[in-house]
Amino acid sequence: MSYLNQNLAEFNYLKHLVLLYGDGKNPWTKERLKYYVAHLCNDGKPDDWLFDSFLFINTKSTSGRDYVADINLGKSMSGEGDFFTICSPNPANKLDWENLLDFYFGEDGALSTLDETIKELSGVITPPQSLRNVVLTLPYPHITQKEFGILNPNGKILNFSVTGQNLTQATRSRLEAEIWFVERIVDLWSKARFSNINLLGLYWIFETVYRSWEIDDHFLLKELRKHINSRGLKFVWIPFYATYNFHLLENYKDYYFDIAFLQPNFLFYKNGKCIEKAVTVAKKTGAGIELEYYMDLDEPISIKNEKHLRFRKYLNAGVTHGYMTQSACAHFQGVDSLEKMYHHPDPIEREFYEDIYLFVKGTYQAKPYPPVPSGSYFIPRKRVAISIDLGGTRLRMGVVDALGKVIHYRQESTPKTRQEIIDRIVINVKEGLRFAKAEGFKVIGIGISTGGRVDFENGVIVDSTSLLPDWKEVPIKKIIEEQINIPVFVDHDGHCAALGERSFGKGKSSSNFISIVLGTGIAGGIYVAGKLLRGTSNFTSEIGHISVDPSGPKCSCGSYGCVELFSSGSGIERWAREKVLSGVQFGNVKDLSAKAIGDAARSGEIFAIDLLKSAGEKLGVAATGLVNVFNPDLIIISGSLVELPDIYFQAFEETLRRRAIRPTADKLEIVFSDFSQDAGVIGAAALVFGQIEYDGCQNNMEQPDNRGGADD
Ligand SMILES: [Zn+2]
Repeated sequence: MSYLNQNLAEFNYLKHLVLLYGDGKNPWTKERLKYYVAHLCNDGKPDDWLFDSFLFINTKSTSGRDYVADINLGKSMSGEGDFFTICSPNPANKLDWENLLDFYFGEDGALSTLDETIKELSGVITPPQSLRNVVLTLPYPHITQKEFGILNPNGKILNFSVTGQNLTQATRSRLEAEIWFVERIVDLWSKARFSNINLLGLYWIFETVYRSWEIDDHFLLKELRKHINSRGLKFVWIPFYATYNFHLLENYKDYYFDIAFLQPNFLFYKNGKCIEKAVTVAKKTGAGIELEYYMDLDEPISIKNEKHLRFRKYLNAGVTHGYMTQSACAHFQGVDSLEKMYHHPDPIEREFYEDIYLFVKGTYQAKPYPPVPSGSYFIPRKRVAISIDLGGTRLRMGVVDALGKVIHYRQESTPKTRQEIIDRIVINVKEGLRFAKAEGFKVIGIGISTGGRVDFENGVIVDSTSLLPDWKEVPIKKIIEEQINIPVFVDHDGHCAALGERSFGKGKSSSNFISIVLGTGIAGGIYVAGKLLRGTSNFTSEIGHISVDPSGPKCSCGSYGCVELFSSGSGIERWAREKVLSGVQFGNVKDLSAKAIGDAARSGEIFAIDLLKSAGEKLGVAATGLVNVFNPDLIIISGSLVELPDIYFQAFEETLRRRAIRPTADKLEIVFSDFSQDAGVIGAAALVFGQIEYDGCQNNMEQPDNRGGADD
């Protein structure tokens, strides 16, 4: 078997059906409906159609009486065992049912508004090839309703309960009310003469089919369906994830319904169900799949992120399990979620809006979680991070937006003493705040990218190398937060650069990459399976201190022959000086900086060419070890040394490719970062956005067993 196929002529080419929850107090307007009918560009103009089918659902009447019954699911939400219908103590009556008809068919009702919305948009977008489908909800006939109302002048007051009558009589009364309602819909529809919508069918709002000594929904549904079909309409159902319902789904087309979508119920419950299992059942029974993506913006951030994670899985599973393009899909989205996503300042929400559009169009591609902000869509109130990049030579400050764009920048020489560095960082942060305030941006955090070993949890610089000799035991997070009431995050510069690549740069498409920053020293960051390696104490990625010559010079770290002593900016200068002192002839012995050596190599100076070639080889040797151990598919090079001549990088790559284990090296790509000098400030901003936006989720990802179900 397969899913309920999408795009079938018998269902008027139904592909993606969106559930539109409403109530009489909040009628559907063109302004609200346009977010479902069309996709909107950044400037708010429609450029394409969105959902092809619309299901209107009201759960309560304007008087507060219930159209829908609950299922007793027990405490476990397991969908196993003893569940039954819980009818409302306040059930809707005939008047409420008529109000619902009015909600659908009234002068400014949902249907004429939808028809009008599509008509107006058809003047802007090429009209769709088939009429958009509408499905209308039938209210549930509660057995607690003893006085529903009178349906025809000589009739009696309908009683849905077994009080004073037997079950057959009660069920026939319930059926009579439903058939009356169907006939009213058929009649009102034919009179309305809508030109842009097609009445595809009617929806059974109760999520299982139940029979007991006082309820017989089996009989009711079989008879009701015959009547609905006789009017050329389809009967639609979206059952809850439950073993009992799987059994009903096996025969749903024979007995009860024409169209059914299985709700995986993956989003709502702490112990979410498994999408894979729902897919298996849907395929076995010929059902469609429902996606659930309710973005309640007021919920705590950890839950919000869990919802992001789970919705991302829904979308991704649509690709891996094929339901995006093969199966008819129902989309549960709460109330006005697409409108909220479209206008949301959080780029994650905004990105979901675009992804839903791509999903409906069938061109969405699975994305890793956490999602990375991408594209250049409009973000209403711009949120920014202030970044400090403290290197051995330069102190840089940037104001960076949520898409990784540097919108304000300044740099100065790194001061010498601990106190001077602290003072200059504070002054630069205040300058960033002043700029952000003047531009009307909201500063969500301050990120500091620094050389040295960093206690990431507490924001303390623990220790440093000779490049920043006085920079140790600095509780920089505490110092700044005491002066400025904005959260501060501090990390090693190599880590920050890797975070920046992952969020905004060439690392966006790779889960296993190594970022190497070549500056005064050499730092790096290693991503494995989409996570930055931090090790026991956050002291990972000291790539500069991989020894490439055990008998080489002593390093400030205590080891000998570290690659930083040969291949970094300071290393190239040191090595050049060592060679000059040992008697090698070189024209300009006064300036032996890496930049000067690079210039000399470009002008053909043999000494400089040889030195850079050797420096590149040493770096290649160090990287070979990393590649053999971590098996990345990508190495991203950034830092000030990217300005060096090609000879250095050719020697690096040739050495690495020659030495690394064959199958590992074959799949490896080596690229330059897009960020050059900005890698540090962009990375420090990625640190801030990552901590503030994604932190709860990353924690959740580490506990798949008790949270995410088996889909992890
Ligand atoms: Zn070292």
